Amino acid sequence: MALSNIGGEQNSHSTRIPYHFTPETCPSGFFKTAQGDEKCLQCPINSRTTNNGATNCVCRNGYYRTDSDPLEMPCTTVPSAPQTVISSVNETSLMLEWNPPRETGGRDDVVYNIICKSCGGGRGGCTRCGDNVQFVPRQLGLTETRVFISDLLAHTQYTFEVQAVNGVSDQSPYSPQYASVNITTNQAAPSTVSIMHQVSRTIDSITLSWSQPDQPNGVILDYELQYYEKDQTEHNSSIIKSQTNTAVIRGLKPGGIYVFQVRARTVAGFGRYSGKMYFQTMTEEEYNTSIQEKLPLIIGSAAAGLVFLIAVVVIIIVCNRRGFERADSEYTDKLQHYTSGHMSPGMKIYIDPFTYEDPNEAVREFAKEIDISCVKIEQVIGAGEFGEVCSGNLKLPGKREMFVAIKTLKSGYTEKQRRDFLSEASIMGQFDHPNVIHLEGVVTKSSPVMIITEFMENGSLDSFLRQNDGQFTVIQLVGMLRGIASGMKYLADMNYVHRDLAARNILVNSNLVCKVSDFGLSRFLEDDTSDPTYTSALGGKIPIRWTAPEAIQYRKFTSASDVWSYGIVMWEVMSYGERPYWDMTNQDVINAIEQDYRLPPPMDCPSALHQLMLDCWQKDRNNRPKFSQIVNNLDKMIRNPNSLKAMTPLSSGVHLPLLDRSVPDFSSFNTVDDWLDAIKMGQYKDNFTNGNFTSFDLVSQMTMEDILRVGVTLAGHQKKILNSVQMMRAQMNQIQSVEV
Ligand code: AMP
Repeated sequence: MALSNIGGEQNSHSTRIPYHFTPETCPSGFFKTAQGDEKCLQCPINSRTTNNGATNCVCRNGYYRTDSDPLEMPCTTVPSAPQTVISSVNETSLMLEWNPPRETGGRDDVVYNIICKSCGGGRGGCTRCGDNVQFVPRQLGLTETRVFISDLLAHTQYTFEVQAVNGVSDQSPYSPQYASVNITTNQAAPSTVSIMHQVSRTIDSITLSWSQPDQPNGVILDYELQYYEKDQTEHNSSIIKSQTNTAVIRGLKPGGIYVFQVRARTVAGFGRYSGKMYFQTMTEEEYNTSIQEKLPLIIGSAAAGLVFLIAVVVIIIVCNRRGFERADSEYTDKLQHYTSGHMSPGMKIYIDPFTYEDPNEAVREFAKEIDISCVKIEQVIGAGEFGEVCSGNLKLPGKREMFVAIKTLKSGYTEKQRRDFLSEASIMGQFDHPNVIHLEGVVTKSSPVMIITEFMENGSLDSFLRQNDGQFTVIQLVGMLRGIASGMKYLADMNYVHRDLAARNILVNSNLVCKVSDFGLSRFLEDDTSDPTYTSALGGKIPIRWTAPEAIQYRKFTSASDVWSYGIVMWEVMSYGERPYWDMTNQDVINAIEQDYRLPPPMDCPSALHQLMLDCWQKDRNNRPKFSQIVNNLDKMIRNPNSLKAMTPLSSGVHLPLLDRSVPDFSSFNTVDDWLDAIKMGQYKDNFTNGNFTSFDLVSQMTMEDILRVGVTLAGHQKKILNSVQMMRAQMNQIQSVEV
């Protein structure tokens, strides 16, 4: 073998260089894949051998070969960034176009990936776009140099990175090179309504409701519903408008199949019509059968209607006599709510999930399905009605990880339990308010079934207050009450009244913000089950002490009965979680209320607040304030804290007897320890004993200095004890004057 001949016919542009000789082993810089008579080939560009006899040439640093690249082919590298990206934005969609990269890396398989980031969401950083953004023809592996992107959010800044990648990009340790553009989307019409469903139908009408568009892109002013008979064309369509996400379409033919489409309107104009949906009115036959089935009910309703009419006439007469003028009551019933015209446009109305033939459909409509892989359970934090409540983390694609509460459905559930459990999610999923717990979604496709909500660090309001007895200022307590009232106002505006649970659970977060929670019964189940009046005649569970008398007696659950319950919650808050009506039985509570007894002001409760409670407990539900008035009232108190100074009973013409149990009579106790227990200060028994305050005579003489000296350091507790001591003194003086 003559080395001088090596490379004699070398051609650096060709990958296959025939070699005159066929040596056993190739020299350095040459290779042959098999032993034998094969000719040695020179290493292709960007590759080399390290010693003689190579069967292939290895790529230089930064150069690669794919598995399918022939060994004679030069090694290749990653492409440079695409050039000159041009964007053209149209409302919430855009077209991106670019030029191919200057360097293809020596390959002809360059494709493009689009990375979408939305920026400036108030926090400065950018986050990856969610799955809802659409890319045509696709997001990854684009062979053309253009892409159409739609379904972006209105008025939002985005950054798009156009990456160039080729067959060897995944072998490079570096991220693909890209060119980026920043764009801001414009105002846009709302997206389409995706689901419409039939709430009810008659022989000549259909009631429909639909979900809000996923991207309203602004405040929805109203909806337009277009409909026509199935055999007709759109030219024969009729149109009705609705300010809510529900409508009754009347004047239809019996048994007629109609095509419905709905679209939403914002200041940016109409969105596109939803897909066509078909609904049919009742046929005469169906109608007759349903009448027969409902006959007993109709007769009953007619009788009830008659009674109602008579009652209305009586009420009108009574009200007229009293010169009582009332513009409109938001409480009476839904019908009035729709026609009274005081709903703001685009406002949503709550849809009862139980009106759905298939409750799972309600869950699909109102709650997002979360993949179990996104959920990490950490620990059990409570017991719910249907199973454990846990805390944990939720990491949704494209979103930051967040701390969440996870309610689980215990195994061995019945279909009804599953339905009831998930109905909670279908209800909560319809709400969006800072004082109503936010539903993140549900897990229904794996076991256990879960409901995932925002996490409230301080847990339930009642236990939180009990743990922090006396530790807040009146303004802080009023702030909490305002939050609850605001959440309740929102629910009332949505026309949401729970069918048999008047007072809802309330949770507190780390900022002391109270949120009306789900509708779990656990708060009321704790100790009431044994009390026979707990279960209503109709089988529903009623938390008696939170419930308005008309709701207990004839299940008249309205926003006005919720106002009554709110009054009880006010009392609980101002007494730091004291049990309403203490240890009275449910029957005693019902009797006392019937005789116009009401709860007295909790200790240190400003009289303005107790007056508001008494207003909420008006026997006639029409005389109770509305939640909007309660919120305004509390706002005024917060703005003018002086109004909260007065503690004396009001001479407001309210002459309700009060169930005065808040300051127990010391003479009913045998020892100072019993008395301390009764005023819920039992934790200071040892302090009193060690300080030698062991008799009522001594305790009744205690001053603030004495209380401090025995070791009561919390201001709220000092006040509570001092108040009770002063009461004891007053009671002793009374006894002495009677004896004299
Ligand atoms: P519930 O079934 O709603 O009555 O919940 C039972 C208990 O779980 C409550 O009393 C709370 O202590 C706790 N809990 C429920 N939801 C949450 C939440 N979102 N954040 C924190 N704790 C919660």
